[in-house]
Amino acid sequence: SYRKGGYHAVRIGDPFSGGRYIAQRKLGWGQFSTVWLAYDTLTSSYVALKIQKSAQQFAQAALHEIEFLSAAADGDVANTKCVVRLIDHFKHAGPNGQHLCMVLEFLGDSLLRLIRYNRYKGLKLDKVREICRCILTGLDYLHRELGMIHSDLKPENILLSSTIDPAKDPVRSGLTPILEKPEGNANGGGGASAMNLIEKKLKRRAKRAVAKISERRVSMYGAVGEEEASSKSERCLDGIDMRCKVVDFGNACWADKQFAEEIQTRQYRAPEVILKSGYSFSVDMWSFGCTAFELVTGDMLFAPKEGNGYGEDEDHLALMMELLGKMPRKIAIGGAKSKDYFDRHGDLKRIRRLKYWPLDRLLVDKYKIPEAEAKELAEFLSPILEFAPEKRPTAQQCLEHPWMNVVSTQKSNADNVESQMNNLHIKG
Ligand code: ADP
Ligand code: MG
Repeated sequence: SYRKGGYHAVRIGDPFSGGRYIAQRKLGWGQFSTVWLAYDTLTSSYVALKIQKSAQQFAQAALHEIEFLSAAADGDVANTKCVVRLIDHFKHAGPNGQHLCMVLEFLGDSLLRLIRYNRYKGLKLDKVREICRCILTGLDYLHRELGMIHSDLKPENILLSSTIDPAKDPVRSGLTPILEKPEGNANGGGGASAMNLIEKKLKRRAKRAVAKISERRVSMYGAVGEEEASSKSERCLDGIDMRCKVVDFGNACWADKQFAEEIQTRQYRAPEVILKSGYSFSVDMWSFGCTAFELVTGDMLFAPKEGNGYGEDEDHLALMMELLGKMPRKIAIGGAKSKDYFDRHGDLKRIRRLKYWPLDRLLVDKYKIPEAEAKELAEFLSPILEFAPEKRPTAQQCLEHPWMNVVSTQKSNADNVESQMNNLHIKG
């Protein structure tokens, strides 16, 4: 996709926005963009540069994301509300077209990487609590103060953050600054190399400050690559203060101005979205519940698959009911798509025999969490996973829940994980 309308090819040392930002290293990519670590020569700090594909629909999506990120930044001047900060945005002309670029504060690994790093065993409950506090702070802000629904909350879209400045503490942050001549030239080829004197000057200044990430995996916490992680038996996150921020506002909407019927990533999708019964803020709470469970256990809460004679949606609904009990008939038959999956009694049409395994038992039996802790955790999560959207607690109410305010040092361990959630029910 490095062609017309597609990604912009970037080389280390490439200047952006008149030379203010210098590309350092690729951090990640999505369907629409590549994300680069860049050095901001104006503020002498590191930033994340999200460079959108150039075609019209991608530019439109970037403008959408900028609208939501700007609103979030405007309402949070002190930058304490656990949402990624938009620093700047501009257009960049390249051989594949005009690319909208977003300059974001530089964050660390995603929670998905953290879960992997921990070898899918789940995190200790006090770590989960710290992470949940950040996510809920972010959601409470988006929902209550801005009227915004994120619509794609999941571990991948929550990034670790740190109070450590990577420029000031390169060792702890996993960054190794070295003075190095940047490789290549932004305008190499294409004949567009009419870089003016000012740009050259800026670039020279930036070169002096240029830093390169070491071969180790980038992380604010010095987390390592998956290979190294899997070769070690113990993953120690003790003493690390878990903070994180919500990112990726490409699918966000206003509660009173929605754009899409089908929202959220499959595994984190709320039942009312599947049934098309209309949605609001509480869809983010559902995704939050799924995410919290995944942090505790290392497993996705729901991993639906299509099977013989039924689709992914119906399997998903079956998995939900096996964990949470039968869906109230009124809710089951209340959506525009209800008739595709439910009969008029509120029973699934194609998956008839459900094997119930309630959350508190699952936590004890499968994940070996001590009874008392499992009970407390299930008491926290169950209301968040209510089928009736209006019965789910708000982010603010969750922050006040006793589980969020426990001081505990006990550990949760999810060893001996054998069977998978999706093998639970007998289909047919
Ligand atoms: P998309 O909308 O294309 O999914 P994201 O905003 O989710 O794009 O970014 C894609 C990836 O880039 C992320 O999963 C992450 O690895 C990385 N990334 C995004 N924003 C930042 C940031 N602020 N700091 C560090 N890495 C980031
Ligand atoms: Mg993303």
